[in-house]
Amino acid sequence: MTETDIARTRLSEVEGRIAAAAGAAKREASSVRLIAVSKTFEASAILPTLQAGHRCFGENRVQEAKGKWPALRQQFPDVELHLIGPLQSNKAREAVELFDAIHSIDRPKIAKAVADEMVRLGKRLDLFIQVNTGEESQKAGVLPKDAAQFVAYCRDELKLAIAGLMCIPPQDEEAGVHFAFLSQLAGDLGLAGLSMGMSADFETAIAFGATHVRVGSAIFGHRS
Ligand SMILES: *Cc1c(COP(=O)(O)O)cnc(C)c1O
Repeated sequence: MTETDIARTRLSEVEGRIAAAAGAAKREASSVRLIAVSKTFEASAILPTLQAGHRCFGENRVQEAKGKWPALRQQFPDVELHLIGPLQSNKAREAVELFDAIHSIDRPKIAKAVADEMVRLGKRLDLFIQVNTGEESQKAGVLPKDAAQFVAYCRDELKLAIAGLMCIPPQDEEAGVHFAFLSQLAGDLGLAGLSMGMSADFETAIAFGATHVRVGSAIFGHRS
């Protein structure tokens, strides 16, 4: 098997599991977007997945993404790139230039910086607000109690169209509880997008309405 064959096999395994989970939840498989999380992998390791036909990728660092995606994009111009890791406001310009979506909007300063850069570049990104559903001190995201006010700020003050909410459940807790919570919160706020679910729990996330699953190791293998 070539590298591309291996990538195709892994992708279709994950896509098959997505389709099965969607079917079980009486949803269309096409209502779930698969973001292939390529963080830590070099361009040469990402290439087979591109050659296998996948076009939607996630990275967690602006600097790292900047090092590999511009060249890959020359070869595959229809790539869609999602920033799934924390963003510093001094990186907002580069992030807006490079990415098509940001899943980690979690404070006014970042929202404002991204809004300003989108205007400046005449570019619209899909923006997700990260919610720290487990209220973990080391984790990014707006606290659940502050989510409604922050969404209102983004919408009313900054005139941002918010695509949805994102969460990363605590490692030692049942993910489904957090997915259910995020889904309810998004519904309350009138937001359609739900970015939740990783390699270990994307099927559970789909059962709770995930529209975007962020899957790394199940596609690319373990990260060193
Ligand atoms: C790394 C990462 C993922 C993918 O994790 P896997 O367990 O490898 O699927 C998803 N979301 C975020 C925010 C990540 O940083």
